[in-house]
Amino acid sequence: MPVIHPRKQKIDVKKHGAEIVITNAYLVYKDEELKSKAISEGIHKLINFEGPVMTDSGSFQLSVYGDVDINNIEVIEFQELIKTDIGTSLDIPTAPYVDKEKAEEDLAITLKRAKEAVEYKEANNIKMLLNSVVQGSTFLDLREYCAKELSKLSSDLYPIGAVVPLMESYKYADLVDVVMTSVHNLPDRVPRHLMGAGHPMIFALAVAMGCDLFDSAAYILYAEDDRFLTTRGTYKLENLQEMPCSCEVCTSYTPDELRDMEKEERTLLIAEHNLHVSFAELRVIRQAIADGNLMELVEERSRAHPMLLDAVRRLGDYSDDLESYDPRVKKSAFFYTGSESLKRAEVTRHLNKLKKMDKKKNLVILPKTRKPYSKYINRYNLGDFFVFNNDTELNNAELGLDSGEINLENTKIDLNNADFMVLDIPFCLIPLNIDEVYPLAQNESPKIRDKDSLEFVQDFVFDFMKNYNQTLISSKIIDEGDINLDNLYSESNEINLYPHSKEIKFPKDDIEMVKAIADYQFGNGIGKVLFEGEISFEKSKKTGKIRHIYSNNELVANMRAADTYFVLAKEGARRLHIASPSPKNRVIVNKDSDPFAREGKSVFSKFVIDCDENIKSKDEVLIVNEEDELLAYGKALLNHNEIMNFNNGQAIKTRKGMFK
Ligand SMILES: [Zn+2]
Repeated sequence: MPVIHPRKQKIDVKKHGAEIVITNAYLVYKDEELKSKAISEGIHKLINFEGPVMTDSGSFQLSVYGDVDINNIEVIEFQELIKTDIGTSLDIPTAPYVDKEKAEEDLAITLKRAKEAVEYKEANNIKMLLNSVVQGSTFLDLREYCAKELSKLSSDLYPIGAVVPLMESYKYADLVDVVMTSVHNLPDRVPRHLMGAGHPMIFALAVAMGCDLFDSAAYILYAEDDRFLTTRGTYKLENLQEMPCSCEVCTSYTPDELRDMEKEERTLLIAEHNLHVSFAELRVIRQAIADGNLMELVEERSRAHPMLLDAVRRLGDYSDDLESYDPRVKKSAFFYTGSESLKRAEVTRHLNKLKKMDKKKNLVILPKTRKPYSKYINRYNLGDFFVFNNDTELNNAELGLDSGEINLENTKIDLNNADFMVLDIPFCLIPLNIDEVYPLAQNESPKIRDKDSLEFVQDFVFDFMKNYNQTLISSKIIDEGDINLDNLYSESNEINLYPHSKEIKFPKDDIEMVKAIADYQFGNGIGKVLFEGEISFEKSKKTGKIRHIYSNNELVANMRAADTYFVLAKEGARRLHIASPSPKNRVIVNKDSDPFAREGKSVFSKFVIDCDENIKSKDEVLIVNEEDELLAYGKALLNHNEIMNFNNGQAIKTRKGMFK
């Protein structure tokens, strides 16, 4: 939302793609001429914009000049009178880093006024949408409290306020704390607006944090100061040798021509550039969301300024929160762009899955090959491995040896009871059975390793090995330096070098593989129920990959080629329903929705009573009624939080009703 000055506006923001704008109701109110025109003709005529207009209440003036001579209800009444589409109550923007007492006092007033405004709107049947602004300075407990209190109101939008000073002083890491805390405690169905977020450099980060709207006067304020906005930062005209982009302004003029120009003409041209860059960045962000690589864009943008890099690093502290909103499958591959990628949702999710998966007795860790690993992995000699005993004492007792005594010849490792995994950066360990599942195959990382990722992988692997009786690590991994052996030596009790004798064969079994994928997708133990009976496969003639899986000649599931996840068939849905306890893999719909779901009609959020908290958008889900009767199955369009919170729109695209 470009900020429109009610009197001075000279730039047409529509031509840059602005569909909604914001202007200041208080400035209009204070100016008799503007005020009477706004009252008689409406705000849209006054600022010459037909689309939705949001107005701010004067709280910015309050923060700059101290007091404003209008009260909360008067502000609401005035915005309604001038036909604002989205109005704002008179909140108090408390600056960052103030005394807590001050922040608490201000917040009490902000909350009181927000409540008063919503009640006034409801009592007077006002159609205008209403902003309720989250305040609380840099105190995260206050931001949380404010967001929770505002969530109880039926506000139409939630701006996150008083963050401009954080952005102006490059306190982007603190901005992340403030925004993530606020957003986490706001309802998902209501749009969030990052107030005063004006520099295109931070748009991608703000969107990744869950902000839907921005407003800014930066395009004109920077222009007045001869400064060009770009996603790489800000350029001063006086330093420009080349124009910074390829917009109409930058391709029509040289820096010298601009410098020689009248101030007013130049300001407008730079403002045009600034708007162009801002809207261009929004287009890039929307495309990244569609492609599923928004975080890659955020990481790329964070290289523009060390403080932005701080912000992305801080965002890593919220990886569980981000993970819950992150779809399991995406169109584009996961790209590792640097150590910040280690905290991405995909990595967090996979490592959590590994920790929870059912484990065999022993672990075999193999070096990376070409992908898919299960296809290109070679046979190894046992001599190529180091053995780590996690329970030497027990082993020795089993072998009839004294504590601490190791007999290489007699050490037995049961490879029939072992998990085979490939060492990977950044996904640490990739079980061979599921190595083609997204993003374990669909990811790229540099061949030249960085220390952070090596340490990250090493720490995880070393901890993970404790789940196993014995671990075999390929010496090739150690030779390549992908994992630090010194560290492993010092942490493990004993190391055996196994005699060169046998060859390790890597078990590759289609039935084991589909069961492992089902466990990974739907939960532990699901595979064996889903693929019970006489299992047969139909494979792609071209690639040899499994396409359809049958049990006793009945289709259970299809395997999606792009990401190797299952798409359920009717029998698969039936089996998944038996295998998983409620509410796992389910959305539970109310009585109203029951007959429609049975017919295969899509499920709307407002009819959902409960659902599995692990559901992400694009997941396969079962649709059941309150008696846990299976009605249908389909694909989630939202995640758990959104399904439970949204009052409008589809939640599940039903594939088939069970009774049709
Ligand atoms: Zn330009």
